[in-house]
Amino acid sequence: MERYPAREAQVGGLGVRRILPQRARRTVGAWCFLDHFGPTLPEQRYRMTVGPHPHIGLQTVTWLLEGEAVHTDSLGSEQVIRPGGLNLMSAGNGIAHAEETPRGAEGVMHGIQFWVAQPETTRHGPPDFEHHPRVPEVALGASAARVLVGSLHGVDSPARCDTSIVGAELSLAAGSTAVAVEPSHEHALVVLDGEVGVTARGEGDGREATARPDELVVVEPGAQQLVLATRSAARAMLLGGEPFESPVLMWWNFVARDREEVDRALSEWESGSDRFGGVDSGLEPIPAPRTPWVSGETRPRRGPSG
Ligand code: MN
Repeated sequence: MERYPAREAQVGGLGVRRILPQRARRTVGAWCFLDHFGPTLPEQRYRMTVGPHPHIGLQTVTWLLEGEAVHTDSLGSEQVIRPGGLNLMSAGNGIAHAEETPRGAEGVMHGIQFWVAQPETTRHGPPDFEHHPRVPEVALGASAARVLVGSLHGVDSPARCDTSIVGAELSLAAGSTAVAVEPSHEHALVVLDGEVGVTARGEGDGREATARPDELVVVEPGAQQLVLATRSAARAMLLGGEPFESPVLMWWNFVARDREEVDRALSEWESGSDRFGGVDSGLEPIPAPRTPWVSGETRPRRGPSG
């Protein structure tokens, strides 16, 4: 099993651990981005303000562990999200959105922002936004899973899926938990708290690793079951999916296939094109960064907006 550490990054003034993409591991199924942010300290009274910014070619999956946030987008959506709820925004050809802490809800913020690459069949299509106040739960012996997207142990999330993927939050009881997984999927485990021994059962039997917080532990296809062992209660995210159909080019807030697509999206955002539309958030739109292939830089000037 491959293990990759997170790297520290900043998004909207908030320190995050960026767990995906990794230099040597760009995607796990269609999952292409994972930031674990917070928890902020209560006395910090953290207030998130991420102004309008565009996305193309990806779904944003927002999952909060503590705190709350309000999402507004260019479709006219305005949605508060709280722990246990799921926001799923599909950018397709283009969408803009903003995220901030609702007035009076300043305090602890803790959660995960995922992106899912959209396949050729939907990435040029219309944008969409879904909110699910709760997602289905499934018991795994003494442990439990909440199924954000896809299917686990026969329990299906109602959230839109453009490719075959799964995403679940695992609340692991001390001891050993067996999780049946789809053998055609590649998987990753990201421990949020605790320490989890991971053993893959199936093809290539006996592969194992110890997963510590904020590491990406990758299990290649062939596993039928993941056996997760902990000495005390632990929490982890399980991601999986069919290996993605093509390499992706991720730049700023865009998931594309080549530089021309990114250049066009950047210039259309800068020019206020109808492609992205306006967001009624009261916040200033985030200007597009220059690309390294124009400026000659080899490293991004600015990371994703969230
Ligand atoms: Mn965003």
